[in-house]
Amino acid sequence: MITAEVVINLKAFKDNLSLLRASSNGSTLVLILKANAYGHGAVELASVLDSEYIVSVARIGEAIDLRNNGIVNPILLLEGCFDDSELYIASRNDFIVTIHDIVQLESFLRAELPKPVGVWLKLNTGMNRLGIESEQVGLFIDSIKASTNLSGEIVLFSHFANSDNSEDSFSFKQLNLFNIVREKCGLRSSIANSAAFVKGLNCNFDYIRLGISLYGIVPSVDINCFVEGLKPVMTFKSRIISIRQIGKDQIVSYGCKWTSSRATKIAVVAMGYADGYPRNIPENTPVYINGRIVSIVGTVCMDMLMVDLGIDSKDAVGDEVIFWGAELPIEVLAKHLGMISYELVCRVSSRVHRTYLE
Ligand SMILES: *Cc1c(COP(=O)(O)O)cnc(C)c1O
Repeated sequence: MITAEVVINLKAFKDNLSLLRASSNGSTLVLILKANAYGHGAVELASVLDSEYIVSVARIGEAIDLRNNGIVNPILLLEGCFDDSELYIASRNDFIVTIHDIVQLESFLRAELPKPVGVWLKLNTGMNRLGIESEQVGLFIDSIKASTNLSGEIVLFSHFANSDNSEDSFSFKQLNLFNIVREKCGLRSSIANSAAFVKGLNCNFDYIRLGISLYGIVPSVDINCFVEGLKPVMTFKSRIISIRQIGKDQIVSYGCKWTSSRATKIAVVAMGYADGYPRNIPENTPVYINGRIVSIVGTVCMDMLMVDLGIDSKDAVGDEVIFWGAELPIEVLAKHLGMISYELVCRVSSRVHRTYLE
């Protein structure tokens, strides 16, 4: 019996892409497949894409993995190369590199590359993570353009720090600065992520970088998404492996942290923190079983967790338990857990059985 399982709906992924593309007013979409496509499977998802889509990852190893698995799409390295040898590999594999600081610029200028590479130049507009300052932009553009290592036109980009919050004035500050620099240098540009795009922040420019929304997830329950009909790509589920009846005042699981207030039936489900389900969860954390929502009780173990089914339940060993998916929105669960959906999907571990639906 397959127990802990992640089911990836490739049709939902393609449908989400169509919906997002139809709302993009002609901007080019850059599909963010970093971290194994947020736990969904980067190779599997990239394999169903038209080859002209630009895909994007964080580390060169992720990009090499895509190439080695036959993905011919343009691949953007969001953080660029971390040393000279990576730049050489990027050139050989036609990766597009980010340049976000002076170390990367110097590496780019001195490199003897097999082929010129595309460059995205990252501007810091206030997040203070990666990116050059606005005063440096002219110098960076001039020296990159003067190098024979450059292929095509430079793209200017930046990243929002607070766009997934409903109370968000900081994005406008960032956008103001971005607009000033963008207009001055005249480069093609990109700042929108999923949150900025689905909120309709009006900053689509030439390229929109979409991660979480491709997977049918709105960055936060608190923001309004104007794109209708996005469907969750991932379902995370398992099965009941045992059911026991207990009386009142019985503890369940490690640490004796939960005590029954009435006689009830407890399901043991094959899902634990080793599968990627969080161990630290508040009371009344929901799961979906046989058409209804019930709660996890007691401490989540490595391989199992327990659910309070109620004394009259008719559930049986082998029945399916859904942790998130269409039946139980991950955005709602994430909010309940005080987490973000990004973290939940990325945590699904390698032990979990993977199924891809065409
Ligand atoms: C991860 C990432 C994105 C995608 O963000 P989503 O919120 O998932 O759409 C876009 N740009 C950069 C630089 C990123 O690191």
